[in-house]
Amino acid sequence: MKTVSSLLDQEWFARYQTISKLNIRSSIYDVTNRCNLRCKGCFFFSSGEDHAAKEEMDPEKWARFIDSEKERGVNLAILIGGEPTLCLDRVEMFNNRMPSYCATNGLIKVPRDRFPDMIVGISLWGDETDEKTLRGKDTFAVSSRNYEGDPYAYYLYTITPKQIGKTEQIIKKIRDIGLKVHMQLLSNDEAVDGFFWKKDELEGICAEMDAMLDAYPDTVISSKYYHKIITTGKMLGRSFGWAECPSVTESLDNRNPQPKRLIHFIRWASDLKTTHRCCTSATRDCSTCKDGAAHMSWVMVNKRAHMRSTEDLQNWIEVYEMFAKLYKFIPW
Ligand code: SF4
Ligand code: SF4
Repeated sequence: MKTVSSLLDQEWFARYQTISKLNIRSSIYDVTNRCNLRCKGCFFFSSGEDHAAKEEMDPEKWARFIDSEKERGVNLAILIGGEPTLCLDRVEMFNNRMPSYCATNGLIKVPRDRFPDMIVGISLWGDETDEKTLRGKDTFAVSSRNYEGDPYAYYLYTITPKQIGKTEQIIKKIRDIGLKVHMQLLSNDEAVDGFFWKKDELEGICAEMDAMLDAYPDTVISSKYYHKIITTGKMLGRSFGWAECPSVTESLDNRNPQPKRLIHFIRWASDLKTTHRCCTSATRDCSTCKDGAAHMSWVMVNKRAHMRSTEDLQNWIEVYEMFAKLYKFIPW
């Protein structure tokens, strides 16, 4: 029987041991139903999730809820919305109680006197032209001023099909303000013309993401195996989709057979009672879902399947390390 230690040399085994101690238990929270943007393709608004539940306004109820989540074993709160920075008191309640990650469009600066080391992921949807088309605003112009040199912030760069051949200019701009970047792909939930992926474009962007990782290893947080998986939707001959997705809310997961999944994962609406199907929207077609976190979690929960060769297990370790870096469980 193949064991982890028989497949890895000393250096890789040490890396494996570091991540195997982490035991990450994440859940996702809609901090608010409001946002200061309305992006075309936002899964939250396009699926009506902003109307799925009435926002809880009582701070005491938020505090009690977060405590109960901690008791449930959650050790990573992923704060989304809507725009969490519109409700910094709620963000602070999470951050004071457990490791928290705040997803933001970057238009409002998270004040570092209140949140000295909270990880902030700033969304960026392509270059200035794409951003104006899809989000109505060049957000980078604002977010780069707000976060320049911030050691706890990185860009979550959603690549669109129009970005092929242009990613380097974005990576360089991010490097020049001293931030890191992680890449994922647009799912185009609102069917914006010209923003659907074609097979040859996915192959092209995979090669381009690999090249960016090689050229800017100090700026890009990624792995080539992850690039392959998000661009092909395939892992070890299996296809990503509803039957395999690990990021389904545990209490709504009636799949049979059960795939490997995130333990105790729930995505909560802002009334603190309603739950959503998964880490994106219930109306998204799983067969076209490009969600980066769901794909990397897919790899992470399938360790045993990657124990068929040294290369497969090293790929698994690199994806796990990438996830752990993005949430600062291990250093960048
Ligand atoms: S900034 Fe985020 S939450 Fe707000 S509309 Fe855009 S994608 Fe949706
Ligand atoms: S839409 Fe994506 S994240 Fe949600 S269940 Fe389907 S595959 Fe998973």
